[in-house]
Amino acid sequence: RRMATSDAMATPPPVKAGWRPIRKIMAANRGEIAIRIFRAATEMNIKTVAIYSKEDFNSVHRTKADESFLVGKDKSPVGAYLSSEEIVSIAQQHDVDAIHPGYGFLSENTRFVELCEQAGIVFIGPPSHVIQRFGDKTEARQLAEEYNVPVVPGTKHAVATVEEARKFCEEIGYPVICKAAFGGGGRGMRIVMHQGELEQNFLSASREAQTAFGDGSMFIERNAVAYVDSPRHIEVQILADGTSATHLFERDCSVQRRHQKVVEVAPSIGLPEELRNALYADAVRICQGAGYVNAGTVEFLVDPKTWKHYFIEVNPRIQVEHTVTEVITGVDLVQSQIRVAAGQKLSEIGLSQEDVHMRGFAIQARVTTEDPIQDFRPDTGRIQVWRPAEGFGIRLDGGNAYPGAPLRAVISPHYDSMLMKVTASALNFKQAADKLSRALVETRIRGVKTNLPFILNVLRHPQFVSGEATTSFIGTTPELFE
Ligand code: ADP
Repeated sequence: RRMATSDAMATPPPVKAGWRPIRKIMAANRGEIAIRIFRAATEMNIKTVAIYSKEDFNSVHRTKADESFLVGKDKSPVGAYLSSEEIVSIAQQHDVDAIHPGYGFLSENTRFVELCEQAGIVFIGPPSHVIQRFGDKTEARQLAEEYNVPVVPGTKHAVATVEEARKFCEEIGYPVICKAAFGGGGRGMRIVMHQGELEQNFLSASREAQTAFGDGSMFIERNAVAYVDSPRHIEVQILADGTSATHLFERDCSVQRRHQKVVEVAPSIGLPEELRNALYADAVRICQGAGYVNAGTVEFLVDPKTWKHYFIEVNPRIQVEHTVTEVITGVDLVQSQIRVAAGQKLSEIGLSQEDVHMRGFAIQARVTTEDPIQDFRPDTGRIQVWRPAEGFGIRLDGGNAYPGAPLRAVISPHYDSMLMKVTASALNFKQAADKLSRALVETRIRGVKTNLPFILNVLRHPQFVSGEATTSFIGTTPELFE
């Protein structure tokens, strides 16, 4: 079912000099984020174009756009969404003015950004030099240092050998983290508690990074909290137009499983005001320093004992958890991305710093088709019952499941297992958590296993309820898996 656009709706944004106005947007992605992009565009009276792999022939994102085109017929399921040349050529043939890459896939691929530019198509994201700069975490760390943003003690450059790594670790002391310079999604990363574990962890992380990112370069960071304690993960949402940068407060993404976010909260709980202001100022400074344009997230680790903070990386794209920021600020981040990409300044679109306010709390849960009692093995199959929650304070961002469709949704093994994002909001954190629990209890999904029971255990655990869970919460709380 396509979303109708009407002439009575908002006019598309004007565009930077020499470029045509944005009347048609392609989402070079699939699932929930493609649908999110189509919704944003439709509300701006912009036409929408989907791409889909042959495996996604029956996927919902395809039917939510005004037009859709098959890509990567001879490629793997993931490879189809990485076919840069073909995607740009389809966009050109069908008068697409701008491409939104979503997250993952081509979102941080500088060659794709350049291909778009050469084709006269606006890339809805940062310019390639910004993506380049932040794609390499060692370069990002150098940039942070240049702008007086504190970083975790670590190697200045990638380390080539285990010997080099060992020398450095002896200097700073264990535990350390071996990290892939070009890593993401928690892959290519290993905690090393003592010297005996270094060689094996260093090499396996590097191999994993080589396979996943085509580059096995590694660097070493000290653990952000001395000895065995764990930090909190706090990140600041930024919008920038090349001249000025606005922060949209912070998200707490400490609830992680294997370095991957599970539940995200905005704003954070219990941080001293001074620290929050320092995080905002540091995030804005580094983005301004880098000539940042469009939406981005500056990630920090915070030591909950000393309240010291450390920069870890910048993600130059829209993130999965952008929803919680939208809910507390009322700012549509995807529409803001489109407007900035079209050349509008933040001050022209009501997004100067003094325009942005927040109210209440939002919590997002990532509902996946993973079985928590089988070590989160992805489950596949046909969805037989699909009854998501409704009611006050609940936002749903769905991908591939839908009620009552003639062809019931099939969850395939080809892609990431996220089924939908459920975001609850209320005036205080406890009420938001209660609302999210209620929504998840109300949700009925049959036909595939989901992580719903696990998320409910998380939401009801006293450590989560305190609002002050650290990144080790899930890993050290076995009762969450029961
Ligand atoms: P990715 O890009 O793969 O997501 P990040 O650098 O953002 O990797 O780190 C992901 C998570 O790993 C962090 O949120 C945190 O939980 C953990 N982590 C990363 N670096 C450190 C560190 N120096 N000390 C402690 N934990 C860390």
